[in-house]
Amino acid sequence: MPNNPRSKVLVIDDDLQSLDLIHKQVLEPLGYQVITAIDGAAGLQLAVTKQPEIVLLSLSIKGLSGKDVLTALRAQGFDSPIIVLVPGDSEAQALAAFRLGARDYLARPLREAEIVAAVDRVIEEGRLRRERVALQQQVQQANADLEQRVRELTTLSGIGKAVVSLTDIGSLFNGIVEGASLVTSGEMGWMALADEGAGQLLLVAAKNLPGRVQLLQPWDDGAASLVRVSGEPLNVSGPAMATMKISQIAKSVLCAPIKARDQTIGVLTVAHRAAQPFTDRQVVLLSAVADYASIAIVNLRLFQALEQRAKSMQQAFEEHHVEAKHRGEALAKLSQELRGPVGQAKSAVELALTQFGGKLKENQRTPLKNAAEKLASAWQLLEDITMLYEAGAASPQTFKPVRLDELAKASMTKYQPMAQQQGVALLSSISSSVIVSGDLHRLGRVFDALLSNAVKFSPQGGEVVVSIQRDGNTAQITVADRGIGIPAEHVPRIFERFYKVEPKSSGPGLGLALVKEIVEAHGGQVWAESAPGQGSRFCFTLPKAI
Ligand code: ADP
Repeated sequence: MPNNPRSKVLVIDDDLQSLDLIHKQVLEPLGYQVITAIDGAAGLQLAVTKQPEIVLLSLSIKGLSGKDVLTALRAQGFDSPIIVLVPGDSEAQALAAFRLGARDYLARPLREAEIVAAVDRVIEEGRLRRERVALQQQVQQANADLEQRVRELTTLSGIGKAVVSLTDIGSLFNGIVEGASLVTSGEMGWMALADEGAGQLLLVAAKNLPGRVQLLQPWDDGAASLVRVSGEPLNVSGPAMATMKISQIAKSVLCAPIKARDQTIGVLTVAHRAAQPFTDRQVVLLSAVADYASIAIVNLRLFQALEQRAKSMQQAFEEHHVEAKHRGEALAKLSQELRGPVGQAKSAVELALTQFGGKLKENQRTPLKNAAEKLASAWQLLEDITMLYEAGAASPQTFKPVRLDELAKASMTKYQPMAQQQGVALLSSISSSVIVSGDLHRLGRVFDALLSNAVKFSPQGGEVVVSIQRDGNTAQITVADRGIGIPAEHVPRIFERFYKVEPKSSGPGLGLALVKEIVEAHGGQVWAESAPGQGSRFCFTLPKAI
């Protein structure tokens, strides 16, 4: 049985006997549709007009020879298989025919079984060849589709990356329209955003729109407004567009909504001048670009809001800074004013105590002593404020050689009574004399502030150690205690003005701020290492040590 009962076979042979054998006795009974020709010219014409699946061609027909027919058929692009019929002793002819494109040959005298086998074989070959070609085409198509998808996705992700990182509004909108027209091949493209106040769409970017395009003007193309209401993409082409304004310039239009939190905030449109409908795939792609647009627009709005906030914070900060500066200046002025009278009162009380202290009764001397102490701290506070708030007051006024060991000892002597009263031991570890260049008075204040804190925050039986070391040209001074320590979260802020771990603890919270100012003004650094319950180490360095 033939593989395909309706296969059409053309037999071109002038030997009527074999023609009859092939036609009537072999192929027709097997269900083949047989057409015959007894000369080359007729055969050629039938081959061209009837397009048989297979041709049996006698090479020895008269007139237009079998070889001529073969040549002519190949020249016309006829590609069905051809089996040539050759005389029994003429394999050479068969070979020549193969060169001209014959697929097989049958030698006369023809035998039924051989005819069937040859026809079946070439038909099967043909079927396989067609299947292979079809398969190849499918693979090529699938490859092309895949490549197209990859291209689309690469383009899309590129657009996504580009638009999401743009912070300039004009480039962002243009980038979105450019991307939309790129992925959909739309000749024209535009984007309109809803103007929340006026409830209409404003054109914000356009590509290839004819005429003079005015951005930020109300926009009505007849399609975008529909999409804005429906929130769904719109794909229209040809006559269906007749009622839309945009039909004057475009015959196919594709719009996608730009949504933010379920609200259509704008519409992205691409269009063709000709009625060339957009595909479903292009609808998906445009919607993807519209989604990127939505993310980018929301980002941009957030970014702008943030920028605005940063600006107002900066402004507030600057105002605060100016205010703080004014306040500082006022404070410095006030303390300057107060230093005179407080200084006088302090000296007077101190003088009274030294001159008449011995003659006074205990109940007269104690209040005077208390007053002298209070006046001394008030004087100190005023001096600290002046140094902190008067421009340049913390900087060294003179650079003279200062012996740090002597300065440390003087400070220790000053706080010895306080330490004794609290049961705190004051110790020092100073290997040799270290001299730095600086301001004796201001550096003395640094030792005083650190030492008084160390004693103040040490428990009874505590120990405060002052050590001075030299590392090359740098002196490092450490005041260590085993007192209450400072919780980690406070340590970084401890040198700020008025900062105190316990807001209620005595002292204004200016000492460490002053230490930092003075040390840094001398070109050094200061830092604290502390752990609650284990104590604190306050360290500072000073350059140019000898
Ligand atoms: P004041 O001028 O009032 O002494 P400081 O600026 O010297 O203030 O210190 C600020 C705060 O730092 C103190 O109130 C205290 O909480 C903490 N502090 C400073 N030195 C020590 C220390 N050696 N041990 C524990 N806490 C300290």
